[in-house]
Amino acid sequence: MNNIESIEHIISKAKAMGCEVKQDELLSKCTTFKIGGAAAAVITVDSVKELSEVMSLCKKYDVQRMVIGNGSNLLVSDDGYNGIVIKLDGDFKNITIDGETVKCGSGVSLATLCKFARDNNLSGLEFAWGIPGTVGGAAFMNAGAYGGEMKHVVMSTSYITNDGDTGTFTGEENKFSYRHSIYSDNDYVITGVAFKLKTDDPELIKERMDDYMSRRRSKQPLDYPSAGSVFKRPEGYFAGGLIEECGLKGYSIGGAQVSEKHAGFIINKGGATCSDVCKLVEHIQKTVKENKGVELECEIRRIQ
Ligand SMILES: Cc1cc2nc3c(=O)[nH]c(=O)nc-3n(C[C@H](O)[C@H](O)[C@H](O)COP(=O)(O)OP(=O)(O)OC[C@H]3O[C@@H](n4cnc5c(N)ncnc54)[C@H](O)[C@@H]3O)c2cc1C
Repeated sequence: MNNIESIEHIISKAKAMGCEVKQDELLSKCTTFKIGGAAAAVITVDSVKELSEVMSLCKKYDVQRMVIGNGSNLLVSDDGYNGIVIKLDGDFKNITIDGETVKCGSGVSLATLCKFARDNNLSGLEFAWGIPGTVGGAAFMNAGAYGGEMKHVVMSTSYITNDGDTGTFTGEENKFSYRHSIYSDNDYVITGVAFKLKTDDPELIKERMDDYMSRRRSKQPLDYPSAGSVFKRPEGYFAGGLIEECGLKGYSIGGAQVSEKHAGFIINKGGATCSDVCKLVEHIQKTVKENKGVELECEIRRIQ
Protein backbone atom coordinates (compact mmCIF):
# COMPACT_ATOMS: atom_id res chain seq x y z
CA MET A 1 0.00 0.00 0.00
CA ASN A 2 1.43 3.40 -0.86
CA ASN A 3 1.03 6.49 1.33
CA ILE A 4 -2.07 7.74 -0.49
CA GLU A 5 -3.78 4.35 -0.19
CA SER A 6 -2.82 4.12 3.48
CA ILE A 7 -4.31 7.55 4.18
CA GLU A 8 -7.50 6.63 2.27
CA HIS A 9 -7.74 3.48 4.35
CA ILE A 10 -7.40 5.36 7.64
CA ILE A 11 -9.97 7.91 6.48
CA SER A 12 -12.53 5.24 5.61
CA LYS A 13 -12.00 3.45 8.95
CA ALA A 14 -12.34 6.75 10.85
CA LYS A 15 -15.55 7.55 8.98
CA ALA A 16 -16.89 4.08 9.76
CA MET A 17 -16.23 4.79 13.48
CA GLY A 18 -18.34 7.93 13.17
CA CYS A 19 -15.45 10.43 13.43
CA GLU A 20 -15.72 13.72 11.59
CA VAL A 21 -13.20 13.66 8.74
CA LYS A 22 -12.19 16.65 6.65
CA GLN A 23 -10.01 15.69 3.71
CA ASP A 24 -7.43 18.09 2.27
CA GLU A 25 -8.31 20.56 5.00
CA LEU A 26 -6.33 23.79 5.00
CA LEU A 27 -4.47 24.09 8.29
CA SER A 28 -4.67 27.87 7.97
CA LYS A 29 -8.24 27.27 9.23
CA CYS A 30 -6.94 25.40 12.30
CA THR A 31 -4.24 27.84 13.45
CA THR A 32 -4.40 31.28 15.02
CA PHE A 33 -1.67 32.45 12.59
CA LYS A 34 -4.08 31.65 9.69
CA ILE A 35 -1.13 30.18 7.80
CA GLY A 36 -0.55 26.71 6.42
CA GLY A 37 -1.33 24.38 3.54
CA ALA A 38 -3.59 21.35 3.67
CA ALA A 39 -3.37 18.21 5.78
CA ALA A 40 -4.27 14.94 4.08
CA ALA A 41 -7.10 14.81 6.61
CA VAL A 42 -8.21 16.36 9.87
CA ILE A 43 -9.96 13.72 11.97
CA THR A 44 -11.93 14.71 15.06
CA VAL A 45 -12.14 12.05 17.75
CA ASP A 46 -14.63 12.09 20.64
CA SER A 47 -13.19 9.46 22.98
CA VAL A 48 -9.96 7.78 24.06
CA LYS A 49 -11.17 4.66 22.20
CA GLU A 50 -11.49 6.55 18.90
CA LEU A 51 -8.19 8.33 19.50
CA SER A 52 -6.44 5.05 20.23
CA GLU A 53 -7.91 3.50 17.07
CA VAL A 54 -6.79 6.36 14.82
CA MET A 55 -3.31 6.42 16.42
CA SER A 56 -2.94 2.69 15.95
CA LEU A 57 -4.03 2.89 12.29
CA CYS A 58 -1.48 5.65 11.65
CA LYS A 59 1.20 3.50 13.27
CA LYS A 60 0.16 0.36 11.39
CA TYR A 61 0.19 2.10 7.99
CA ASP A 62 3.21 4.26 8.80
CA VAL A 63 1.36 7.54 8.24
CA GLN A 64 2.56 10.55 10.22
CA ARG A 65 0.05 12.10 12.60
CA MET A 66 -0.11 14.97 15.01
CA VAL A 67 -2.61 16.17 17.58
CA ILE A 68 -3.46 19.82 17.63
CA GLY A 69 -5.29 21.85 20.20
CA ASN A 70 -6.24 25.38 19.18
CA GLY A 71 -3.23 25.70 16.86
CA SER A 72 -2.14 28.83 18.74
CA ASN A 73 1.54 27.97 18.90
CA LEU A 74 1.98 26.56 15.40
CA LEU A 75 3.52 27.68 12.15
CA VAL A 76 2.44 25.25 9.44
CA SER A 77 4.33 24.89 6.16
CA ASP A 78 2.78 26.33 3.01
CA ASP A 79 3.05 22.81 1.60
CA GLY A 80 0.81 21.57 4.39
CA TYR A 81 1.16 18.32 6.29
CA ASN A 82 1.25 14.99 4.51
CA GLY A 83 -0.45 13.08 7.27
CA ILE A 84 -3.36 12.96 9.68
CA VAL A 85 -4.12 15.82 12.04
CA ILE A 86 -6.15 14.73 15.05
CA LYS A 87 -8.47 17.10 16.90
CA LEU A 88 -10.02 16.30 20.28
CA ASP A 89 -13.71 16.83 21.01
CA GLY A 90 -16.54 15.02 22.86
CA ASP A 91 -15.20 13.39 26.06
CA PHE A 92 -12.05 15.48 25.75
CA LYS A 93 -14.14 18.56 26.58
CA ASN A 94 -15.36 17.25 29.97
CA ILE A 95 -14.60 19.02 33.26
CA THR A 96 -15.22 17.61 36.73
CA ILE A 97 -14.52 19.00 40.18
CA ASP A 98 -13.78 17.39 43.53
CA GLY A 99 -13.00 19.94 46.24
CA GLU A 100 -9.94 21.85 45.06
CA THR A 101 -9.12 19.34 42.32
CA VAL A 102 -10.33 19.99 38.79
CA LYS A 103 -9.99 17.27 36.18
CA CYS A 104 -10.49 18.03 32.56
CA GLY A 105 -10.10 16.61 29.12
CA SER A 106 -7.18 17.89 27.08
CA GLY A 107 -9.49 19.44 24.49
CA VAL A 108 -10.97 21.93 26.97
CA SER A 109 -10.00 25.51 26.14
CA LEU A 110 -8.05 27.41 28.77
CA ALA A 111 -10.76 30.08 28.59
CA THR A 112 -13.44 27.56 29.61
CA LEU A 113 -11.21 26.11 32.33
CA CYS A 114 -10.34 29.53 33.78
CA LYS A 115 -14.01 30.54 33.91
CA PHE A 116 -14.90 27.19 35.49
CA ALA A 117 -12.25 27.66 38.18
CA ARG A 118 -13.36 31.25 38.85
CA ASP A 119 -17.04 30.21 39.06
CA ASN A 120 -16.07 27.58 41.64
CA ASN A 121 -14.01 30.06 43.72
CA LEU A 122 -10.76 28.33 42.79
CA SER A 123 -7.55 30.26 42.30
CA GLY A 124 -4.31 29.30 40.50
CA LEU A 125 -5.26 29.55 36.85
CA GLU A 126 -5.65 33.33 36.59
CA PHE A 127 -2.34 33.59 34.68
CA ALA A 128 -3.78 31.43 31.89
CA TRP A 129 -6.73 33.73 31.26
CA GLY A 130 -6.12 35.06 27.75
CA ILE A 131 -3.75 32.31 26.58
CA PRO A 132 -5.68 31.09 23.52
CA GLY A 133 -4.81 27.39 23.83
CA THR A 134 -6.32 24.14 25.03
CA VAL A 135 -5.41 22.28 28.21
CA GLY A 136 -3.48 19.67 26.16
CA GLY A 137 -1.48 22.28 24.26
CA ALA A 138 -0.82 24.23 27.46
CA ALA A 139 0.44 21.14 29.33
CA PHE A 140 2.58 20.14 26.34
CA MET A 141 4.14 23.64 26.23
CA ASN A 142 4.09 24.31 29.99
CA ALA A 143 2.37 27.54 29.01
CA GLY A 144 2.86 30.46 31.34
CA ALA A 145 2.43 34.17 31.87
CA TYR A 146 2.71 36.82 34.57
CA GLY A 147 4.79 34.60 36.85
CA GLY A 148 2.44 31.61 36.61
CA GLU A 149 2.90 28.44 34.63
CA MET A 150 1.17 25.11 34.17
CA LYS A 151 3.86 23.48 36.28
CA HIS A 152 2.54 25.28 39.39
CA VAL A 153 -1.02 23.94 39.09
CA VAL A 154 -0.85 20.63 37.22
CA MET A 155 -1.15 17.69 39.59
CA SER A 156 -1.02 15.01 36.91
CA THR A 157 -1.43 14.43 33.20
CA SER A 158 -2.97 11.37 31.57
CA TYR A 159 -1.73 10.08 28.27
CA ILE A 160 -1.99 7.40 25.64
CA THR A 161 1.00 6.01 23.80
CA ASN A 162 1.32 4.97 20.17
CA ASP A 163 0.90 1.37 21.31
CA GLY A 164 -2.43 2.20 22.93
CA ASP A 165 -1.10 2.02 26.51
CA THR A 166 -2.55 4.57 28.89
CA GLY A 167 -0.87 6.07 31.93
CA THR A 168 -0.40 9.07 34.18
CA PHE A 169 2.54 11.34 34.97
CA THR A 170 2.33 12.91 38.41
CA GLY A 171 4.12 16.10 39.55
CA GLU A 172 7.84 16.04 38.71
CA GLU A 173 7.34 13.16 36.27
CA ASN A 174 5.94 15.73 33.85
CA LYS A 175 9.44 17.26 33.58
CA PHE A 176 8.08 20.76 33.20
CA SER A 177 10.56 23.49 32.43
CA TYR A 178 10.42 26.70 30.43
CA ARG A 179 8.00 25.98 27.51
CA HIS A 180 8.85 22.29 27.79
CA SER A 181 7.37 19.11 29.24
CA ILE A 182 8.00 15.40 28.99
CA TYR A 183 5.59 15.45 26.04
CA SER A 184 8.04 17.64 24.08
CA ASP A 185 10.33 14.56 24.06
CA ASN A 186 7.87 11.74 23.39
CA ASP A 187 5.01 11.21 20.99
CA TYR A 188 2.33 10.48 23.56
CA VAL A 189 -1.02 12.20 23.37
CA ILE A 190 -2.26 13.96 26.50
CA THR A 191 -5.84 12.87 27.16
CA GLY A 192 -6.56 14.78 30.37
CA VAL A 193 -5.06 16.93 33.09
CA ALA A 194 -5.79 17.19 36.82
CA PHE A 195 -5.22 20.58 38.45
CA LYS A 196 -4.70 21.32 42.13
CA LEU A 197 -6.18 24.76 42.87
CA LYS A 198 -6.82 26.80 46.00
CA THR A 199 -10.06 28.21 47.33
CA ASP A 200 -10.09 32.00 47.23
CA ASP A 201 -12.40 34.99 47.19
CA PRO A 202 -14.12 35.03 43.76
CA GLU A 203 -13.86 38.84 43.61
CA LEU A 204 -10.06 38.65 44.01
CA ILE A 205 -9.83 35.90 41.39
CA LYS A 206 -11.86 38.01 38.96
CA GLU A 207 -9.74 41.10 39.71
CA ARG A 208 -6.53 39.23 38.87
CA MET A 209 -8.02 37.80 35.67
CA ASP A 210 -9.22 41.25 34.58
CA ASP A 211 -5.82 42.75 35.35
CA TYR A 212 -3.95 40.15 33.26
CA MET A 213 -6.40 40.49 30.39
CA SER A 214 -6.15 44.27 30.31
CA ARG A 215 -2.33 44.01 30.33
CA ARG A 216 -2.55 41.62 27.35
CA ARG A 217 -4.94 43.89 25.48
CA SER A 218 -2.73 46.93 26.01
CA LYS A 219 0.55 45.22 25.04
CA GLN A 220 -0.29 42.49 22.52
CA PRO A 221 -1.44 42.85 18.89
CA LEU A 222 -4.64 40.89 19.43
CA ASP A 223 -6.33 42.41 16.35
CA TYR A 224 -4.09 40.41 14.02
CA PRO A 225 -3.53 36.68 13.54
CA SER A 226 -0.36 35.48 15.28
CA ALA A 227 1.05 32.58 17.26
CA GLY A 228 1.93 34.69 20.29
CA SER A 229 5.56 35.30 21.26
CA VAL A 230 7.74 33.95 18.50
CA PHE A 231 10.90 33.52 20.58
CA LYS A 232 11.67 32.05 23.97
CA ARG A 233 12.81 34.54 26.58
CA PRO A 234 16.62 34.57 26.44
CA GLU A 235 18.31 34.40 29.83
CA GLY A 236 18.55 37.94 31.24
CA TYR A 237 16.70 39.66 28.38
CA PHE A 238 13.30 40.09 26.78
CA ALA A 239 13.12 39.00 23.13
CA GLY A 240 10.73 41.85 22.28
CA GLY A 241 13.04 44.46 23.85
CA LEU A 242 16.09 43.19 21.93
CA ILE A 243 14.17 43.15 18.64
CA GLU A 244 12.87 46.67 19.24
CA GLU A 245 16.36 47.96 20.12
CA CYS A 246 17.56 46.57 16.78
CA GLY A 247 15.03 48.83 15.04
CA LEU A 248 12.96 45.94 13.74
CA LYS A 249 9.53 47.03 15.00
CA GLY A 250 7.23 47.16 11.97
CA TYR A 251 9.79 45.43 9.71
CA SER A 252 7.99 43.17 7.27
CA ILE A 253 8.58 40.49 4.69
CA GLY A 254 5.58 39.75 2.47
CA GLY A 255 2.51 39.63 4.68
CA ALA A 256 4.50 38.92 7.86
CA GLN A 257 5.41 41.85 10.10
CA VAL A 258 7.19 42.40 13.39
CA SER A 259 4.29 43.85 15.38
CA GLU A 260 4.45 47.62 15.94
CA LYS A 261 2.73 47.02 19.28
CA HIS A 262 4.93 44.19 20.62
CA ALA A 263 8.17 43.34 18.82
CA GLY A 264 8.14 39.81 20.26
CA PHE A 265 5.12 39.01 18.06
CA ILE A 266 5.08 38.43 14.32
CA ILE A 267 1.66 39.21 12.91
CA ASN A 268 -0.08 38.13 9.73
CA LYS A 269 -0.99 41.47 8.15
CA GLY A 270 -2.92 39.61 5.45
CA GLY A 271 -1.87 36.81 3.12
CA ALA A 272 1.34 35.99 5.01
CA THR A 273 2.89 32.67 4.06
CA CYS A 274 4.95 30.34 6.20
CA SER A 275 7.88 31.22 3.98
CA ASP A 276 7.40 34.97 4.77
CA VAL A 277 7.40 34.21 8.50
CA CYS A 278 10.46 31.95 8.28
CA LYS A 279 12.45 34.58 6.35
CA LEU A 280 11.44 37.21 8.88
CA VAL A 281 12.41 34.94 11.79
CA GLU A 282 15.84 34.35 10.22
CA HIS A 283 16.31 38.07 9.63
CA ILE A 284 15.42 38.86 13.25
CA GLN A 285 17.72 36.12 14.61
CA LYS A 286 20.63 37.30 12.44
CA THR A 287 20.14 40.99 13.29
CA VAL A 288 19.80 40.39 17.03
CA LYS A 289 22.84 38.09 17.04
CA GLU A 290 24.97 40.65 15.15
CA ASN A 291 23.86 43.66 17.17
CA LYS A 292 23.28 42.20 20.62
CA GLY A 293 25.21 38.95 20.62
CA VAL A 294 22.12 37.06 21.74
CA GLU A 295 20.76 33.90 20.07
CA LEU A 296 16.98 33.89 19.84
CA GLU A 297 15.38 30.47 19.92
CA CYS A 298 11.90 29.92 18.46
CA GLU A 299 9.04 29.18 20.82
CA ILE A 300 6.52 28.56 18.03
CA ARG A 301 6.53 25.07 16.59
CA ARG A 302 7.13 24.50 12.87
CA ILE A 303 4.92 21.84 11.29
CA GLN A 304 5.80 20.35 7.92
C1 LIG B 1 -2.25 36.02 21.12
C2 LIG B 1 -1.49 34.89 21.74
C3 LIG B 1 -1.03 35.01 23.05
C4 LIG B 1 -0.32 33.96 23.63
N1 LIG B 1 0.11 34.12 24.92
C5 LIG B 1 0.79 33.11 25.49
C6 LIG B 1 1.26 33.25 26.84
O1 LIG B 1 1.05 34.24 27.51
N2 LIG B 1 1.97 32.21 27.37
C7 LIG B 1 2.22 31.08 26.67
O2 LIG B 1 2.86 30.16 27.22
N3 LIG B 1 1.79 30.93 25.41
C8 LIG B 1 1.09 31.90 24.80
N4 LIG B 1 0.66 31.76 23.52
C9 LIG B 1 0.99 30.52 22.77
C10 LIG B 1 -0.06 29.38 22.87
O3 LIG B 1 -1.34 29.91 23.10
C11 LIG B 1 0.30 28.38 23.96
O4 LIG B 1 1.52 27.75 23.70
C12 LIG B 1 -0.80 27.31 24.13
O5 LIG B 1 -0.54 26.56 25.28
C13 LIG B 1 -0.87 26.35 22.93
O6 LIG B 1 -2.04 25.56 23.08
P1 LIG B 1 -2.81 24.98 21.81
O7 LIG B 1 -3.92 24.15 22.29
O8 LIG B 1 -3.16 26.05 20.85
O9 LIG B 1 -1.67 24.04 21.21
P2 LIG B 1 -1.27 23.86 19.67
O10 LIG B 1 -0.68 25.13 19.16
O11 LIG B 1 -2.41 23.28 18.92
O12 LIG B 1 -0.13 22.78 19.81
C14 LIG B 1 1.10 23.10 20.44
C15 LIG B 1 1.90 21.79 20.60
O13 LIG B 1 1.22 20.98 21.56
C16 LIG B 1 0.94 19.71 20.99
N5 LIG B 1 -0.33 19.26 21.55
C17 LIG B 1 -1.51 19.94 21.58
N6 LIG B 1 -2.44 19.20 22.22
C18 LIG B 1 -1.84 18.04 22.58
C19 LIG B 1 -2.28 16.88 23.28
N7 LIG B 1 -3.52 16.74 23.72
N8 LIG B 1 -1.38 15.89 23.47
C20 LIG B 1 -0.08 16.00 23.03
N9 LIG B 1 0.37 17.07 22.37
C21 LIG B 1 -0.49 18.08 22.16
C22 LIG B 1 0.87 19.92 19.49
O14 LIG B 1 1.14 18.73 18.78
C23 LIG B 1 1.96 20.98 19.31
O15 LIG B 1 3.23 20.37 19.23
C24 LIG B 1 -0.07 32.78 22.91
C25 LIG B 1 -0.53 32.66 21.59
C26 LIG B 1 -1.26 33.70 21.01
C27 LIG B 1 -1.77 33.54 19.61
